[in-house]
Amino acid sequence: MRPDILNPLFASVATLPGVGPKTAKLFDKVLAPVNGAEARIADLLFHLPQSGIDRRARPQIAEASLEGVVMLEVTVVDHRPPTGRNSKAPYRVLVEDETGDVLLVFFLANHNWVERSLPIGARRWVSGKLELWDGHLQMVHPDKVLDAEGLAKLPPVEPIYGLTEGLNQRAVQKAVEGALGRVPLLPEWIESSLFAQRNWASFSEALVTLHRPGGPEALNLQHPARLRLAYDELLASQVALGLVRARMRKLGGRASVGDGRIAGAIEAALPFTQTSAQREALVEIRADLAAETRMLRLLQGDVGSGKTLVALLAMATVVEAGRQATMMAPTEILARQHYERMLPLAEKVGLRIALITGRDKAAERSRTLAGLESGEIDIAIGTHALFQESVGFRDLALAVVDEQHRFGVHQRLALGSKGEAVDILVMTATPIPRTLVLTYFGDMDVSMLREKPAGRQPIDTRALPIERLDEVVAGIARAIKAGARVYWVCPLVDENEDLDLAAATERQEVLAHFFGDRVGLVHGQMKGREKDAAMAAFQRGETDILVATTVIEVGVDVPEATVMVIEHAERFGLAQLHQLRGRVGRGSGRSTCLLLYKSPLGQVAQARIEIMRETEDGFRIAEEDLRLRGEGEVLGTRQSGTPGFRLASLDVHGALLPVARDDARLIVDADPDLATERGKAVRLLLYLFGRDEAIRLLRAG
Ligand code: ADP
Ligand code: MG
Repeated sequence: MRPDILNPLFASVATLPGVGPKTAKLFDKVLAPVNGAEARIADLLFHLPQSGIDRRARPQIAEASLEGVVMLEVTVVDHRPPTGRNSKAPYRVLVEDETGDVLLVFFLANHNWVERSLPIGARRWVSGKLELWDGHLQMVHPDKVLDAEGLAKLPPVEPIYGLTEGLNQRAVQKAVEGALGRVPLLPEWIESSLFAQRNWASFSEALVTLHRPGGPEALNLQHPARLRLAYDELLASQVALGLVRARMRKLGGRASVGDGRIAGAIEAALPFTQTSAQREALVEIRADLAAETRMLRLLQGDVGSGKTLVALLAMATVVEAGRQATMMAPTEILARQHYERMLPLAEKVGLRIALITGRDKAAERSRTLAGLESGEIDIAIGTHALFQESVGFRDLALAVVDEQHRFGVHQRLALGSKGEAVDILVMTATPIPRTLVLTYFGDMDVSMLREKPAGRQPIDTRALPIERLDEVVAGIARAIKAGARVYWVCPLVDENEDLDLAAATERQEVLAHFFGDRVGLVHGQMKGREKDAAMAAFQRGETDILVATTVIEVGVDVPEATVMVIEHAERFGLAQLHQLRGRVGRGSGRSTCLLLYKSPLGQVAQARIEIMRETEDGFRIAEEDLRLRGEGEVLGTRQSGTPGFRLASLDVHGALLPVARDDARLIVDADPDLATERGKAVRLLLYLFGRDEAIRLLRAG
């Protein structure tokens, strides 16, 4: 149960004065950590200002900058309402100080309001952006027109928040003010010497400092108050991971030692030899499987590095030991693909595998479930459907989780609970820089496949502005004539599925104009079966071009596809571009990747595209991605921080991570049940940052 002291922070934002049901809905949209959930007051408080307007600088008119918002102290000189019939002309008000004058410009003005707010001869403080118009300084629609009384109430630096359509700054500012009043006094969870050494403020003081900036420095991501909250978030995640880890250790493991008969038969049946990276990874995994402890290992490898084979051989090992294995993929398409590609090999060597998805026919499903219970099936491959309670194993020993970053810690645990001391192998196709491995996975053991299977040809990567679409179409027509198959990816347009879909549909129509009915379409809103049908048609070569939203991002394998067109490449992150490109270059044919962009390219987008042209090494790309994201931050273009984190941004706060990890280790070692005073405070922290699933583990004993 969540401690009562946190209740005020977990109340809905709708309980704040001035937040009606409509505004609350908008807050849900911007703030809720889970789509469709209700935004709580804590969520609002973690929505820190993106920038601020410094109202303290009061330059004289002659010195005022034309960049950014300025606050001027002026005297009202003259009113110039629109004359004659030209009602579209603005209402202008001339104001001055000793150094010059400025025209305040109001379009479609409420004359009454202008006259009341700016009486001639009065002293006023106006804030807004200055511009030069026809040789004269003007300020269009000042964001503030204040008298002395209004000025006194103004915060020195006005916080500016990220918004969504329909939500304005004032509404957020007001709600945040209300929320700050609800923050309870919480016991300190940060270790006291660290707290003292860093000169940090308490949790509630830090929130106040950041939401009511006393100066521009409070908006700096390195401000101590920001560091403190970032540390809180990192500590919460590290403690949660530490608790999971400790629990796994406590539960112990079992030794699964194979005799090599099935794995050997698989190897003998392969049309190629394994890379040495694959062999090394298997040696590490088999050592874990054979140990009495629980395996928790991450298998990292670039797209196409052959992780699936490693997983299959590892699963074969536990089957040799008389046990079962399961492999979970994030999407139906992928689960099916794994299954279909393993099936011929499995049949040849006597491995009994089955597929479990959300769409199995009832009869088929119950046969599979019975087979898993009785042990007649050795390996279950599937999607989230594997989590369902009805799925039980006779003796599950190994769970392989493909493309893990899409699943949470608790899901990993749910799979682990389907058997006795289940060993867990997590596979990710996104090469992750070391710092991030630590963040997302804690102290996991890591195996890496850095080497690609022999015989792969480099991918020819080019960048073109979208204006050259004609050339692209002509080039593709030639390639198709020569037998190529083409992926054409349309990006997220606006984080709005309908718009994404429209873009992809429109592209399909345009391409169909040139290529007739040999252009397929697959997108996220299609039903599972339609998706599969579109993918299958492309796989079988019934379509030459597959237009897709980013659903093909993960793992899908069509070796005949040798051309990847990525439209609006400037909108994709580096990791995503790399993932997408990895869909081609899988067969022996020469592959091409065309990055179509809309000019002008921003600095960061340009850097990304250059890196893509330079290298195919996923680990290098991952490091560059992290670096560029850091620059994005500096350039102020960055919208969201490190995925999964709200306050901590690893590019900026990465140095805090090892500190948090060490502290988390101490906490978990010294007080594994979080029973001491500090332990209880740490529990609060876990709730605050939504890591309380780890607390449930404590109760499970
Ligand atoms: P990943 O999951 O790491 O992206 P896959 O396991 O899907 O990569 O492998 C990509 C392709 O490479 C598959 O067609 C697979 O059969 C093939 N492959 C795997 N290992 C090797 C190898 N050692 N030599 C040649 N081809 C390989
Ligand atoms: Mg894969």
